[in-house]
Amino acid sequence: EKIFSGFSKTRQNLAVIDELLLYWNLSETDRVLDELEEALLVSDFGPKISMKIVDSLRDDILAGNLKSGSEIKDALKKSVLELLKTKGSKTELQLGFRKPAVIMVVGVNGGGKTTSLGKLAHRLKNEGVKVLMAAGDTFRAAASEQLEVWAERTGSEIVTAQDDKVKASSVLSQAVKKGKEQGYDVVLCDTSGRLHTNYSLMEELIACKKAVAKVVSGAPNEVLLVLDGTTGLNMLPQAREFNEVVGITGYILTKLDGSARGGCVVSVVDEIGIPVKFVGVGEGVDDLQPFDAEGLLSMLFS
Ligand code: GDP
Repeated sequence: EKIFSGFSKTRQNLAVIDELLLYWNLSETDRVLDELEEALLVSDFGPKISMKIVDSLRDDILAGNLKSGSEIKDALKKSVLELLKTKGSKTELQLGFRKPAVIMVVGVNGGGKTTSLGKLAHRLKNEGVKVLMAAGDTFRAAASEQLEVWAERTGSEIVTAQDDKVKASSVLSQAVKKGKEQGYDVVLCDTSGRLHTNYSLMEELIACKKAVAKVVSGAPNEVLLVLDGTTGLNMLPQAREFNEVVGITGYILTKLDGSARGGCVVSVVDEIGIPVKFVGVGEGVDDLQPFDAEGLLSMLFS
């Protein structure tokens, strides 16, 4: 329901396509496809994907494979679904067999990292997983306190920096050591989120990755990039940059309950070929849902 209302603007933009296709006939293909492309563009699909979808529809129409407006609509939905499914990559968390599994949450400030980490702790705890939190955002004032509130809310243990000179990588390393010694299943690591163009942040994230790998080989098992679903195509350069530097294994798309830019979800998944693992639909403990491509598709197109 929350995503449905968050996507209302996108759905409204895409509804134009139904009208267009209602009156489609072969002689009007170029005009209809141009307008269809426009509808995808204003719905934040981005130029590359919009063109890719429309070109493939055009090929199928000209080859005689699509003979009616409803067949074109079905083909459009099918290609969006294929894009969302990221070439078969896994949307479930991959936690490996060594304990503790380490999940790092990265992203720019304000995207919803700390909140998502809290919601993820709640989710895992409900599945019977023993969770330890690590307050690795040593840069933003109050990030640690915010995570402590989440630890209390979810009944989780937490490791925080003893003073403000302690490096993020030390906090994470200390937490993973504790996790290993005390039999935790998962260590959830928060990190700082200055601008992704800030070189020292990227250096810090690399140091964090190395620090946890020293304690548990193969860690981190997941590096989840948190992207604010309301920011539109700005997500793309962020995703590219973080992936290049730290290697992302999945996305958490937050604020899909707000005025989310629905089409961007498709772009961001297709661009880097990394799956969305969770979506954030609010600020409460239960507001993190596993990503469901079919469900999302049904919210984009009526
Ligand atoms: P961080 O700087 O990346 O750690 O971001 P925070 O976790 O502090 O989140 C920034 C703001 O976004 C906070 O006010 C959160 O409550 C809010 N927020 C995070 N996720 C969601 C979400 O899925 N939906 C909504 N509506 N708000 C969210």
